[in-house]
Amino acid sequence: MTTVDLSEIPAPAGELSVWPASTTRLPHGDLAVGGVSLTEVAERFDTPVYVLDEGEVRGRCRTYRDAFPDAEVLYAAKAFLSRAMVRWVEEEGLGLDVCSAGELELAVTAGFPPERIVLHGNAKSPRDIEAALRLGVGRIVIDSPSEIARIAAAVGPEGRQKVMVRVVPGVSAGGHDKIRTGTEDQKFGLSLTDGSAQDAVARILGQPQLELTGLHCHIGSQITEVEPYLVAVRRMVGLLAGIRDAHGVVLPELDMGGGHGIGYRPGEAALDLTALARGLRAELGAGCAAAGLSVPRLVIEPGRAVVGPAGVAVYRVLAVKRTGEKVFVAVDGGLSDNPRPALYGVRYAPRLIGRHCAAGARTATVVGRHCEAGDVLAADVELPGDVHPGDLLAVPVAGAYQLSMASGYNMVGRPPVVSVHEGTSRVLLRRETLDDFRNRDIGR
Ligand SMILES: *Cc1c(COP(=O)(O)O)cnc(C)c1O
Repeated sequence: MTTVDLSEIPAPAGELSVWPASTTRLPHGDLAVGGVSLTEVAERFDTPVYVLDEGEVRGRCRTYRDAFPDAEVLYAAKAFLSRAMVRWVEEEGLGLDVCSAGELELAVTAGFPPERIVLHGNAKSPRDIEAALRLGVGRIVIDSPSEIARIAAAVGPEGRQKVMVRVVPGVSAGGHDKIRTGTEDQKFGLSLTDGSAQDAVARILGQPQLELTGLHCHIGSQITEVEPYLVAVRRMVGLLAGIRDAHGVVLPELDMGGGHGIGYRPGEAALDLTALARGLRAELGAGCAAAGLSVPRLVIEPGRAVVGPAGVAVYRVLAVKRTGEKVFVAVDGGLSDNPRPALYGVRYAPRLIGRHCAAGARTATVVGRHCEAGDVLAADVELPGDVHPGDLLAVPVAGAYQLSMASGYNMVGRPPVVSVHEGTSRVLLRRETLDDFRNRDIGR
């Protein structure tokens, strides 16, 4: 028997496995997404440019609806939001999870039904609460004890607002420390183990202006295993039973948050949604039966898994530099359009597009153009040995938490977002220009 080095076996899925399903190869090393050539997008709209495949977003919404036919699926707007995105999500029958008055107002003014929106936030401002009540959001998720009286007072004696409580179930999961939110050592939620969740529930039940519809938890992000969700469900069902015993109230909803992991590079694991749906249904059914509870309606809140794989970032190479052993390929974007590598150490798989390469591959580090040594887009990736200024590099899985976290660093300006669908392209968000920076600079 011979031993096989697993790292030498090519991933079963092809090199385009993390690209949108609509991706096709064109002549001269070009790729088309949504039936539109990426090099044409780069020429027409300039670089850097973000391409968003409408069909992929809609398809992913449908996958969720099919996998969770009895659940309420809320798209987590913080992953990426624009008016077109609001419309697609609405048309595909999902609800929306927002975490600020800004996201909320954008969604409602773009026509999203407010009763299908849930407002989150560990520190809601007076403006957030005012906007939520004025626009009539479906539910507000209470994340700290002080919010209870504040929201009740803002609702006023005549009103009644549906709320949930964000619980920390004590489950550690997620792709990086900064995106683990299921344990006591981070800022979100109310603890199950120290009794703050139970206290909050008792206080909410004592407020006639608040209607407690259920419990919420969100244990982390970029989770690729089903098991942590099942542990969390068990603890949440335990709390539902405790609430029934203490108050005689059976809460009708259980929101298990999002965090469903996706692959960023070929061969990387993604969370199996069918397995998650099956597991959640079984665990919830068994737990509720054992506790003598009727099964609450399940709510889930995917963000990344809906929009991440639908986005592709296209950059132009500005400089190639060799320093010692390393080759640096510098592109015309970086930290200000994608802070994720710097924040979480995420790895991407950029690809040269738009020309045939005769040269063999070599290891290079793709860096951005910002004045920050940590502005690294993709460390130690394989690129053709003859990469040179003027080449185009495309980065797949660029749809989530990139532009929504983009900044004005170095006044480079945020790139445009171009949606592609069935062979046509249109601009959803235009490029941020120097005039945009100048317009808000009103001092002298
Ligand atoms: C961020 C967040 C989500 C979405 O997380 P993803 O990892 O994008 O699926 C869902 N719910 C809450 C409360 C969140 O904070």
